Amino acid sequence: MYSQKRALILGDGAAGTILANKLRFLTNKNELEIVVIGNSKKHYFKPDGVQIPFGLLDYRKSVKNSEFLFNAGVKYIQDEVVRIDVDQRFVTVKSGKSYSYDYLAIATGDRLTPEDVPGYEGEAKHFYNLQAALSLKEDLAKFNGGDIVIGQASPEIQCPPAPYEFTFLLDHYFRKRGIRNKINIHYTYPLNRVFTMPQVAVFVDKLFQERGIITHTMFNVETVDPKNKVVNSLEGESVKYDMLILVPPHRGQKVITDSGLAGESGYIDVDRHKLNYGKYDDVFVIGDATNLPVSKAGAAAHFQSGYLSHHIASEVGGAVYEDDYNGECACYTITGVNEAISLWFSYEKNAKANFKSKLDYIFKWTSADTYFSGMVRGIM
Ligand SMILES: Cc1cc2nc3c(=O)[nH]c(=O)nc-3n(C[C@H](O)[C@H](O)[C@H](O)COP(=O)(O)OP(=O)(O)OC[C@H]3O[C@@H](n4cnc5c(N)ncnc54)[C@H](O)[C@@H]3O)c2cc1C
Repeated sequence: MYSQKRALILGDGAAGTILANKLRFLTNKNELEIVVIGNSKKHYFKPDGVQIPFGLLDYRKSVKNSEFLFNAGVKYIQDEVVRIDVDQRFVTVKSGKSYSYDYLAIATGDRLTPEDVPGYEGEAKHFYNLQAALSLKEDLAKFNGGDIVIGQASPEIQCPPAPYEFTFLLDHYFRKRGIRNKINIHYTYPLNRVFTMPQVAVFVDKLFQERGIITHTMFNVETVDPKNKVVNSLEGESVKYDMLILVPPHRGQKVITDSGLAGESGYIDVDRHKLNYGKYDDVFVIGDATNLPVSKAGAAAHFQSGYLSHHIASEVGGAVYEDDYNGECACYTITGVNEAISLWFSYEKNAKANFKSKLDYIFKWTSADTYFSGMVRGIM
């Protein structure tokens, strides 16, 4: 006789969907019920947002119905989680129901908070969700000359390379339109180099210089002044713009803070190897919802889901999973059309950028197909 346990997964994005599907492959339905609660009807492949504003990809291929992405045997509930009680072991959703669990995986990602920067809303543009990326495509088409400033409004964002990838494509886009000489591209970055990983920063900086991109380092955005068209940094520098493209600040979800699992930042502290929350050995956090010292990336969510699915499946089967999550992450980052660099890193290993490759660009350009057909299904 089996006594069925329940794994409850909160969030229907990259981390939650991959975890559910991987776990289903590893466990018997009689042993483990897998329930996912999520509030996104559509699953958007966010990495495509870097290319969509330049018309390099058809955005319709970047979106699927969330419900179609779950493998048979995963129960998917469309609702919004409004309370998580890890002491009483239940979760409450907006429609009023509550769900108990044996294993809880929080994979609610994070949210954009443009309201955190005075002057941002209604003035700055970005490409961090589909609507913004499509609207930026129209704005870029109308831009014929002047200063464009591109940067990030807070140090911690999803996919740290995305701003430099976007900058390289911006340079290519205006060259192709034959008006690059009428445009100054300014790139701002909050550290004293152009990217967080030192060796990659040197590589990217060299390409920026070759392409005439003006850099402003140690630039932590404080305010946007729409009247005078300047963006101001905490360090006292002001940069004038005709178009401002600024990745909005991020925070974890409100339900996380409201449930007392994190402070105002909304990011949850977890064990960096076991991914469990505090003293609880039945509560795990993966993906962008964590405070882990790894990039907020779908690739990191993928590796974390791999680790956690094996950990839970082993426990369900009465065994102990000896491996740890080691901070692994990998990504292809664009340095222009038809060129990209691949970055591999972990807690112990720093990323290195060695050479640009067309093959890496092709991997990146086709990654929505790989993601929807393989990765999200749990078969990679
Ligand atoms: C422009 C851009 C480019 C990127 N490029 C790359 C890249 O090249 N490589 C890479 O690896 N990563 C990239 N990323 C990052 C990657 O998309 C994220 O790191 C990844 O989506 C994180 O997965 P997640 O499941 O943690 O969060 P998400 O995918 O955001 O999923 C969270 C889910 O939880 C749901 N949710 C939230 N709150 C609740 C609630 N209260 N109740 C129910 N459901 C809730 C949300 O609706 C959402 O579906 C990029 C991101 C952006 C924006």
